[in-house]
Amino acid sequence: MSIAFNRLADILRDRGVPTRYQGGALRAQGICHDGDSPDTVAIKRGNNGGVVIFCHKCQGNREFLAAIGWTEADLYDEPLERQQDRPADDTWIPCRERGHKRVAQYVYRDENGGVVHGVTRCDHKCFAQWRPDNGAKSGRRWSLNDKEGNRLVRVVPYRLPYILKAIAEDRVIWIAEGEKDVHALVDHGLQATCNAAGAGKWTEEHAQFLRGADVTIVADRDIPGRRHAEHVVETLRGIARSVYVVQARTGKDAADHFAAGHTDSEFLKVWSPIPYPGDAAVGA
Ligand SMILES: [Zn+2]
Ligand SMILES: [Zn+2]
Repeated sequence: MSIAFNRLADILRDRGVPTRYQGGALRAQGICHDGDSPDTVAIKRGNNGGVVIFCHKCQGNREFLAAIGWTEADLYDEPLERQQDRPADDTWIPCRERGHKRVAQYVYRDENGGVVHGVTRCDHKCFAQWRPDNGAKSGRRWSLNDKEGNRLVRVVPYRLPYILKAIAEDRVIWIAEGEKDVHALVDHGLQATCNAAGAGKWTEEHAQFLRGADVTIVADRDIPGRRHAEHVVETLRGIARSVYVVQARTGKDAADHFAAGHTDSEFLKVWSPIPYPGDAAVGA
């Protein structure tokens, strides 16, 4: 259950926007404006749930919503789906004509929770990527590039809004090879990310989001997995604060590790290229 009022209070707290209760409403400055008075915006629980936002300066909520990256849909308690997320509910995939079924979909988001692109996986392990496009009838197009092959969407690591928050909270960021492993890690209380499209597709652009982070990379137990982990390490030099590389104690990857009943402290440490501050220096 997701309460819109609580989500909004979290966002304001995360952004360092001062708030206080007054006259039955949470008051905040109008972050839709620059530096105006601290009680410009009134935020209340709606009578039927949801949250009601009123900015006295712009006499409404539109600019305030834009400033925090929300749409009208975010004002409701349970339905988190944004307007531009609707393609996420459409189960059509490019290989459906071959009888394949969608089994998973992963949505990549920007800093504010906006959809950058999505990845689908079918029951025959075809992966396909789409980008939101309001000009398309389905709301999405099944390519991240234009006809000349130029990329049209940003490169962002998976679960970026959570990752940025976790870095700010000094939590360790786990990097896995794919979304399935990321979710295995998240299901065990960890903060995890990956790049879209698997081994070999991590870039320096992904690494830029991990500045100052303490990172643990889970390397898949095969040659591409090892190369992938080594490449991720290279991109994090001078960016991450610390980097460890671990492997599953059982099986090939993080999902196997947890499925075998192991905990996060039971991964095998295979390399510490950038030790935690205070660790004994690792011999070259
Ligand atoms: Zn305003
Ligand atoms: Zn398929």
